[in-house]
Amino acid sequence: MISRVGFCQDCFDRNRPQSASQYLVFGSTRQAFFFYKAKRKGLRGYTPHLYVYLGLTDSGFVRVKSTCSMCSCGVNVGKEKNGSTPFDIKNYDLGKMTVTNWNSLINYTHDKTFEI
Ligand SMILES: [Zn+2]
Repeated sequence: MISRVGFCQDCFDRNRPQSASQYLVFGSTRQAFFFYKAKRKGLRGYTPHLYVYLGLTDSGFVRVKSTCSMCSCGVNVGKEKNGSTPFDIKNYDLGKMTVTNWNSLINYTHDKTFEI
């Protein structure tokens, strides 16, 4: 699983991300989920997403599932208890992309355009 920016129609329709919006990130170094709060209003509709590699298709495409990881969009957040916060990833969209695009996503690190 990786966290990268992606386009979300629902967030676009609701003019998100706004500053102080909470979102979920999967940290690949620590292999754990973290909540963050947007420090600024981002580019409309471009939000943190979670991507999961599912394998290759027979025709050589990468099968992926992805979801917007803004809270109250792709992620439901429960009430904090004993220092931990329960959450639920609502549902993933299934899709496929070229290996080149997947590798670009993997190697993508930072772009100020999408900073929140
Ligand atoms: Zn969204």
